[in-house]
Order: sequence, then structure tokens, then C-alpha cells
Amino acid sequence: MIRICSINLKEESNDTKISYNVRTDKLTGTNFTIIGLMLDEKDNEVISNQIREYNTYYFDSNGGRLEKYLREYKVKHIIIGINLNNIKTENDVKKYIRRIRKLGKICRRCKTMIGILGEDAGEVISIIIFNYRENLNIKNIKLPDLIDSTKLEMYRGKKQRYDYIYENACTKLDYEFQTRNLCDFKDNKCIEKRKTNVICGCCRHYKNLFSRKLIKCEYLKNKKCTARCITCKMFTCDTLQKQGIKFRIRDFYLLNYYLNPMQKLVIKTSYFTPKDKIMRRLMRLGK
Ligand code: SF4
Ligand code: SF4
Repeated sequence: MIRICSINLKEESNDTKISYNVRTDKLTGTNFTIIGLMLDEKDNEVISNQIREYNTYYFDSNGGRLEKYLREYKVKHIIIGINLNNIKTENDVKKYIRRIRKLGKICRRCKTMIGILGEDAGEVISIIIFNYRENLNIKNIKLPDLIDSTKLEMYRGKKQRYDYIYENACTKLDYEFQTRNLCDFKDNKCIEKRKTNVICGCCRHYKNLFSRKLIKCEYLKNKKCTARCITCKMFTCDTLQKQGIKFRIRDFYLLNYYLNPMQKLVIKTSYFTPKDKIMRRLMRLGK
């Protein structure tokens, strides 16, 4: 079964749509090449037959050859082809990530865009999924995670890519805390501090290294955090942890597979720190 996936790159939108079958007029009228990623030799022929009216190239990890192809044929747009039959284990996912990052780098060098414009504003048709299945059954990795890998490569700047990694995790954390009402705030008091006079949860820290006096965090304004600090967002106190509520870096696909150990340390330890400062640290430590 084949599906086409479109991604919306507008900042306020986090849409990905997995829809229509491959033979529709959505794909006509634009010059593009389908770059097959991780397609086993034995599958190539079967898949080629299904998309024979389009230009196709199988990326076998030989970056030099792909770069030559893109330059020689002046390829302006590509759509990435993923064969889910080739992604069955965590190692396959790691291989997929390595390959798609390499592909992204080559596309940026050759000024080739990933995707063609879709019908809705901001929508870009970017991926064709072959042998589509809803559940991957690989650890806690889901199909939208694989799509996030492509979305990341569609951003051309390093800052935009790190911003996406950061925001992707923050949005998921906000969603978890808000929709599940994890801290159970009532009259500005969370479940942990309910029987105390403390309001606004755990947004307090020691005055300085030598003091045991707790003061309100300077980024707490009008009972809201103005720092968008990912480290604070991942924190859960003993009360929540006893309920089994705990967030680790490995729970977030992009943080887990895209950050190096030093960057992960930054995410683990940067409490009470605004996003732009954490972002600067991440970018200094990464490619
Ligand atoms: S993590 Fe715990 S202490 Fe912090 S706001 Fe939530 S319930 Fe309160
Ligand atoms: S930075 Fe952390 S402690 Fe300070 S307001 Fe934001 S979440 Fe609370």
C-alpha cells in the first residue's frame, strides 16, 4: 500500500497529512525526482513498477553519486521514498536517520528542495511511503517520528533545525501536562504543594550557591514561565514520579536520536534557563 505524506512548514502549524494514493493528479505538473531511501535491491523493481511514470533514483548511501546526479540533471525538487518493509528494527531506524541526514546535506549543497508544493498554504508533498503500515512496532518509535526526520531536513538553516528539535519536544511536553492535567493545579497550588502556602508549583530556586533560601524564579511572570525552558518542562517531582510520571530524553525521538551526549547533558542540566541560551549551547556543541 502506498501513501503520500505532506508536511506543513508554517511555524504555527504542526501538520503532517498522510493521504491520497500515489496515482493522483497531485503529483503532475511539477518536475521532481523520487529519491528512494533504504530500498532493498530486491524491492526496487516492484516499487519502480508502481511509480514508473516518475523519475526515480535509489540512494544507496553513495553521496558523491547522488550529488552528481542532482547537479547533472539540475534536479530542483525531490520527494523522498521510504519503504517501511526495510524499517523493522531500531538499527534500521538509525540507518534511516543516517541516510536521510546525508541526503538533507546533499540537497542543501545542491540547492535542491525536498518536496513539491501541495494544495494548502504551507503544505509541501515530501514523502511517498511504500508498504504503508500504521504501527511500526519498534520500541516507542512511531511513523510520525520518521516523518519528523524528513521535516527536519526540509529546514535549510542549522538554527531552524535545532529550533524544530527543541520545539517538537516542548510541544509534546506541554500537551502531556495540559491535557492530562498532571500537576493538578487548584487555586494556583499544585498537587505537591497543596498543603503549603506555595503557589505556582516548583518554580523556585536557591538564592545563590551559598544560600538555602528559596526565591521565586525570575522567569515566572504573571504566573507563567517566560523562559520556555525544556529542562524545567521535563522535570517531575517525587509526587508525580511515584505515580509513574517521568520524562526522559529517550522518550523523545528527536532528542534521543539527533543530540550527541554533550547536548543531552545540556538538556538534562539547564534548569531555570531561557530557551535562547539553551539553544546557543546546543548549537555550539553540535553540527
Ligand atoms: S512537578 Fe510537582 S512540584 Fe512541580 S508543579 Fe508539578 S506537581 Fe508541583
Ligand atoms: S524557567 Fe523553570 S522555574 Fe523558571 S518559571 Fe520557567 S519553568 Fe518555572
